[in-house]
Amino acid sequence: MVTANNDLKVSQLVLPNGSWNWVAFRQLLHPHALEHFFNSPVSTLIVGPDRCIWEPEKHALWDKVLTNVSCYHRNLTDTPSCQICGASSESSLHILRDCSTTGTIWLSLLHHQSLPDFQNLALVDWLILNIDNRQLLVGTNVPWNVFFCSLIWQIWKCHNSHIFAASTISNTDLIHMSRAWALQYI
Ligand SMILES: [Zn+2]
Repeated sequence: MVTANNDLKVSQLVLPNGSWNWVAFRQLLHPHALEHFFNSPVSTLIVGPDRCIWEPEKHALWDKVLTNVSCYHRNLTDTPSCQICGASSESSLHILRDCSTTGTIWLSLLHHQSLPDFQNLALVDWLILNIDNRQLLVGTNVPWNVFFCSLIWQIWKCHNSHIFAASTISNTDLIHMSRAWALQYI
């Protein structure tokens, strides 16, 4: 039985015959996630012992959200600007942190929560700062990183609903909903 923890290494997911240990994978991952490993070659010791080769600052997946900026660069829209607040550039960070409505959400939370540099960091550093932060959301037993992930997902959905369905939700309701979702994961 293999259990997921911070010390789990790739080598623990490889059988002596050199193939992936699918039994272990099925214990650890959702079936959809398994698909990502089907075409991934098994690690070998030729390239050395297990180590982290993930370099977030170079990894494009951090910024794959289909914003107006990315649509503009793909000639899918005429302007990279934000349709909600009119800012000249609707980037991922703009949607998740800096848009006018979003900004007031974070300000209401940061009033109670101590998160230095929260509003000054670039996207990847901002994500890492929050995902690494396990302090509890003030007044709750919800870790900040769990709440943060829940909230940015709700912000993204709310941003899209606002633009494509003219549907809005109050900041208070958004925070409550994010906290309720976060509680499901702790
Ligand atoms: Zn905006």
